[in-house]
Amino acid sequence: MIRKTGEHAIVLGAGISGLLAARVLTDFYDRVTLVERDALGGDGSRKGVPQGFHAHSLLPRGLQILEELFPGLTGEMLAEGAVPYEMIVQLRMIIGGHEFAKMPTGDTGVSSTRPFLESHLLRRVRGLPNLATTDRSQVGGLATREGRVVGVRIAGDDGEREIPADLVIDAMGRGGRTLAWLESMGFDRPQEETVKVEVAYATWYLRLPERALGEDRMIIVGTYPGRPKGAALCAVEGDRWLVTLGGVAGVRPPVDPEGFFAWLDEVAPADVAAAVRAAEPLGEIGTARIPTSVRRRYERLSRFPEGLLVTGDAICNFNPIYGQGMSVGALYALAMRECLREGTGDLARRYFAAAAKALDPAWQLSSGADLALREAEAARTPLARMLNAYLGRLQRVAAHDPQVAVAFSRVSGLLDPPSALVRPAVLWRALRG
Ligand SMILES: Cc1cc2nc3c(=O)[nH]c(=O)nc-3n(C[C@H](O)[C@H](O)[C@H](O)COP(=O)(O)OP(=O)(O)OC[C@H]3O[C@@H](n4cnc5c(N)ncnc54)[C@H](O)[C@@H]3O)c2cc1C
Repeated sequence: MIRKTGEHAIVLGAGISGLLAARVLTDFYDRVTLVERDALGGDGSRKGVPQGFHAHSLLPRGLQILEELFPGLTGEMLAEGAVPYEMIVQLRMIIGGHEFAKMPTGDTGVSSTRPFLESHLLRRVRGLPNLATTDRSQVGGLATREGRVVGVRIAGDDGEREIPADLVIDAMGRGGRTLAWLESMGFDRPQEETVKVEVAYATWYLRLPERALGEDRMIIVGTYPGRPKGAALCAVEGDRWLVTLGGVAGVRPPVDPEGFFAWLDEVAPADVAAAVRAAEPLGEIGTARIPTSVRRRYERLSRFPEGLLVTGDAICNFNPIYGQGMSVGALYALAMRECLREGTGDLARRYFAAAAKALDPAWQLSSGADLALREAEAARTPLARMLNAYLGRLQRVAAHDPQVAVAFSRVSGLLDPPSALVRPAVLWRALRG
């Protein structure tokens, strides 16, 4: 039995991180209100999350946490059309230019579109007895008293109103408002670490000829230094494949069918490129651009207003090609739960420290790889250069050593920390090569 911590908590933003934070808060507060600018409850695709059109892979660690917070969710999604895939048998990984060896691990992943995942989470969240959603409502600002946050001002169909709360969570994604709020309340802004990634996506939904790719359910073709082009192909609900081309360092994928095919001819195995050429298009090619990854160092602030926390992309938005954002949002939710179990004293300091610890491995992996891609610009240390050389070697070895492929996939799936790649067993295999 969890002790109630407060009367009312408000979560601003019903993206993946907001939904997960709301779920956690219902264990600690009598009432939780989830506020969202968009109308909720359709098929999940909406204006506030335009990225939802593109490939959104949920890493194995993210799926574990979702299942922990919503037992039975995986089964529900599978029953309604999400696509299961066996790790790393039906997941084909071509990383650093090397196609990884395959080996059963006993783990199963679930592939779906982001709107499908979000609509399933929303349904579960809306089923929580002490949670209310307030959609089509724009967050106007915070209500504060003596440097403490005591509520939120919301503008909805019925005009502007103030809702009091013991705790407010900013889960409004990249456009999170906390930076501006801190300034207006006389607090410092957190330091920011920015990596210029210049990622561009082009996504096409297709129906592939039956069994065109055999048992494969997901194919990831990574970028690497010297080849700034990649692709992700995912079987998703509705008997469709979602094919996202990703360019980094300013390289933009084409948006015409012939250019799309030619990109795949260049980066993907021949059978994959041929299957896509033979597919039936299900609509237009859509695009997205992500100029930078930004990590905000909230954990380094010496003062932070009481009654306010931040989660999700508002803390750190990643280069999406590594598929980390939703899973890290799930890790923040667990961090929030752990901190609230200890009460609300000194909550912001404890939470931001725990969130930073949860985020560190994912940030190390993605920012390290991003810096390696931008060799010319990056002020890289000898240590970073050595690590990248070692990773390159691991990827070569993973092409014929399934144990190394599994170790690599567990780290990139956030199941194991990056240090697992230098455990003696892996190190030995890499060096023996
Ligand atoms: C192109 C692209 C591809 C991606 N691919 C992947 C992937 O493969 N795997 C993965 O894990 N992650 C991926 N991500 C990242 C992922 O989308 C986010 O990390 C994830 O959605 C968590 O974000 P969030 O919940 O913090 O914010 P968001 O999902 O952006 O949600 C923020 C919510 O806040 C609402 N909101 C904003 N402002 C207001 C306001 N003023 N008032 C009320 N509501 C407001 C928005 O409408 C939205 O619902 C990708 C991102 C991009 C851009």
